Amino acid sequence: MTVPLTEPHDLTGAHGLAGAHDGTAYDPVDIREFVDAEIVPHADEWDQDERLPPKILHRIGELGLWAPFLPPDAGGAAMDWTTLGRVHEEIGRGCSSVRSFLTVHTMVTWTVQRWGSDAQRERWLPRLAAGDLIGAFCLTEPDSGSDASASGTVAESNGSGWVINGEKKWMTAGQVAGLLLVFCRSAEGMSAFLVPADSPGVEITPITGVMGTRASMLAGIRLREVRVGPEALIGPPGWAAGTVMTGALDLGRYSVACGSVGVAQACLDACVAYTSRRRVREGRLSELQLIRRKITDMLVSSRAARLLCAEAGRLKDADDPATIMATWVAKYHASTAASAAASDAVQIHGANGFSADHPAARLYRDAKVAEVIEGSTELQQLTIATEAYREVAR
Ligand SMILES: Cc1cc2nc3c(=O)[nH]c(=O)nc-3n(C[C@H](O)[C@H](O)[C@H](O)COP(=O)(O)OP(=O)(O)OC[C@H]3O[C@@H](n4cnc5c(N)ncnc54)[C@H](O)[C@@H]3O)c2cc1C
Repeated sequence: MTVPLTEPHDLTGAHGLAGAHDGTAYDPVDIREFVDAEIVPHADEWDQDERLPPKILHRIGELGLWAPFLPPDAGGAAMDWTTLGRVHEEIGRGCSSVRSFLTVHTMVTWTVQRWGSDAQRERWLPRLAAGDLIGAFCLTEPDSGSDASASGTVAESNGSGWVINGEKKWMTAGQVAGLLLVFCRSAEGMSAFLVPADSPGVEITPITGVMGTRASMLAGIRLREVRVGPEALIGPPGWAAGTVMTGALDLGRYSVACGSVGVAQACLDACVAYTSRRRVREGRLSELQLIRRKITDMLVSSRAARLLCAEAGRLKDADDPATIMATWVAKYHASTAASAAASDAVQIHGANGFSADHPAARLYRDAKVAEVIEGSTELQQLTIATEAYREVAR
């Protein structure tokens, strides 16, 4: 798949983002054109409706964007991570709720591809790749978030399979997901299960009235005596913490980082347009130095964030474990930069910044979400500082 992106977003040179490892020729999809034509004009409406219409989810499937990182024989396009990051950036520029769907779907689909058995791959990947089935990543609970080891959802072996009991909260796409990746405590340690959302005992409750990514169709998920066979377990029992959870969260963090770059870019685009036409007594807003300083900060911080994401993507493509820390750094910078840019965007828009007629308010609310999910700002500060001391000690 070629994903033509032009300056100033394109950092990769004349060939855009044609990015298959195996050199496969893909149907051309102009991702930016798609976002501008089919996402940007509707993002505020979806935000107010608190839902994404089936049409946009269907279009993402038509364009092959649900899981393009899968190999072609699994329904993907062997897209590399650098390119996927740019896709998630562009989608995030248009609508963080759509990007959130892609984030969790990527985490679930990649888990099946990376850690699943042949039977699990055969059963789930074609439908996940097509978007006929949406994946939800079910880790957080009412009483455990940053500290996932405090999970209270339990899976007990009953000889022929497993019985799951517990409660998960804040599942992105949970209202429409068909496949749940559920993390549970088992006698052997943390285990991960693929649970069809229509399994008896699964109860899904929409969460509404959230502040940001309002169209991401969040849900709480109750599991009461949910019985699954051995084929639902990913890998051996008790094995998920250092593998599935760490790996999937790393990818989620990468996607959120890239999406945050998109939010920062959207803030910059909106502010340049608004200040170029809005007049005050001294002239256009765009001529005022204090405004220009904010524009400069937005541009510099969003470009720096994009470069950090590109570095994390490059290391992923090289299978270099250094990508884990590079992704923490990218996500920390990109999410805080997006929040700062969105705060300045509201300020620059004045009263209009509070209006649903302008995107600034939505961008402000959505940017804040990225500072909480996939490792909060505080956890990132702790983790990155630890790495700094480790580097010095080496
Ligand atoms: C819009 C949205 C979508 C989400 N989607 C999903 C999803 O799809 N799947 C899923 O599993 N979860 C999802 N979540 C949940 C998200 O992953 C958690 O909110 C996140 O992990 C933080 O956990 P918490 O909310 O319980 O906060 P807590 O862990 O209770 O933290 C509260 C505050 O304390 C700080 N803190 C925590 N520990 C420390 C520490 N050791 N040192 C310093 N400060 C600390 C945190 O940074 C935070 O500021 C979503 C949340 C939101 C808001």
